Amino acid sequence: MTAPSRGRGVTAPTDGRLGRRRVVVIGGGLTGLAAAWHVRDEVDVTVLESSTDPGGQVRSVPFAGTRIDVGADAFLARQPEGERLVRAAGFGDDDLVAPATGQVYLWVRGRRRPLPAGTVLGAPADPVALVRSGVLPYGAVLRAGLEPVVPRREVVGDRSVADLVGERFGREVVDRLVEPLLGGVYAGSVDRLSAEATLPPVWSAAQRHRSLLRGLREHRARAAADDSPVFLTIRGGLGRVIDRLAADLGTRLQTGTAVTSLARTEDGGAWRITTDGGEHLVADGVILALPAAVASGLLRDQSPAAARELSGIRAASVGVVALAYAPEHVTDVPVGSGILVPRTEGRLVKAVTFSSRKWPHHAGHDHFLLRASVGRVDDATPVDPDDDRLVAAVEAEVRELAGIDGRADEAIVQRWPDSLPQYDVGHLARVDRLRAALREDAPGLHIGGASLDGVGLAARARDGERLAHEIRWDAGLLDPAGRTG
Ligand SMILES: Cc1cc2nc3c(=O)[nH]c(=O)nc-3n(C[C@H](O)[C@H](O)[C@H](O)COP(=O)(O)OP(=O)(O)OC[C@H]3O[C@@H](n4cnc5c(N)ncnc54)[C@H](O)[C@@H]3O)c2cc1C
Repeated sequence: MTAPSRGRGVTAPTDGRLGRRRVVVIGGGLTGLAAAWHVRDEVDVTVLESSTDPGGQVRSVPFAGTRIDVGADAFLARQPEGERLVRAAGFGDDDLVAPATGQVYLWVRGRRRPLPAGTVLGAPADPVALVRSGVLPYGAVLRAGLEPVVPRREVVGDRSVADLVGERFGREVVDRLVEPLLGGVYAGSVDRLSAEATLPPVWSAAQRHRSLLRGLREHRARAAADDSPVFLTIRGGLGRVIDRLAADLGTRLQTGTAVTSLARTEDGGAWRITTDGGEHLVADGVILALPAAVASGLLRDQSPAAARELSGIRAASVGVVALAYAPEHVTDVPVGSGILVPRTEGRLVKAVTFSSRKWPHHAGHDHFLLRASVGRVDDATPVDPDDDRLVAAVEAEVRELAGIDGRADEAIVQRWPDSLPQYDVGHLARVDRLRAALREDAPGLHIGGASLDGVGLAARARDGERLAHEIRWDAGLLDPAGRTG
């Protein structure tokens, strides 16, 4: 198999095995790696990744005598593509682990309270459970219970999460239930996040039912009938999946190589990719699997319209602090997977995962392991650039939030600058416009990545499948119905 033609000067395509399509994937996070992995035997594919390690926001590191994920720590199992990818990559039942507990806590009104049963991404589907949880003051529960009789405002098109959920259930449901759940995924602002893009089941229930509560109840009933785990992870860390994909790609994956520009070749028939090492690669097809801001920069000259749309997708900077405590300090940590802290509580920490409670493979460890998350889209100050200060501030809050009475024996900090894309109101329409612009301006160029169609790893795996399909289509490897020949 040959790599795309490359050289110091601008090279003409000099591929030795004519007929094989040459594809360059820019960005070796899960999206780019999965896409390349699927087509590795069908086209001449090269992945260019700027960091020395592949995997992007999936990273497992040695910590306290074990390995811990300091980026994503689980994937949604109810969307099949995540599990499909890891199984295809060779992982089996012994590697896949489900959480030991699904109970989540909220820190509200000065103490820990269980997330009420029967919520859909925080939106209540079971008023009785809401009352029992004590998460909302009495007046707010009453307001939420009035949902079926609250007049419905007809709004054309997308709306913010706060606008949709607030109108139906009241603002306190938004601030104390929906915001902390979405905060863990987007670290965003409920006043700007798109209900259509970030709360699909709530959005679709609102479109189909006069009463959102009724629509959510139906959704819950369907979800409750499925007793399979909601999340899965890999024993030993999700980084093992990255290692496996990278090993299978072998020399087709080039790390420590940032792409600095992208242009059509003079005859317009191919793409010329330039790296920070001054190397030029020529390829018939390109996949961009990059953060929106980077993709926007590369497309500035090739598709100004697409570049403009990408530049409008903001990103939040967040940080993860992993802490390892001696067991005697674990005085009051509840049985549960973690605790979420609404923004309205004014805390530094927005979520704590009790890793030793959540994951069976961390349970028997001689330290109690947890991960705390900090940082929100419009406030990166919690991600203190000084490690010692950040750890001390996080430890101080974790003591109260999690129920710990001492200092951690070990700590590790992982910062993720500009990492979590913001699906603001109108996001899906923006993605449609940018793809239409690319079809017009940049044939042979495909775009994916968390900035566009879903931030979770299962969505990334799905994107990898879609991008691979597009590459096969360009290469003439599919029959007219889109099936592999
Ligand atoms: C703290 C945190 C916790 C998370 N937890 C979860 C979770 O539990 N479950 C879940 O499903 N999801 C989780 N996510 C989200 C999930 O990890 C990401 O959405 C997903 O990993 C993004 O994959 P990606 O390939 O699209 O982008 P990325 O992982 O961002 O990969 C993009 C790659 O492009 C590279 N790159 C950038 N510029 C260039 C350039 N010029 N040239 C070449 N390469 C370049 C980057 O180095 C990077 O490796 C979490 C994210 C974070 C930050």
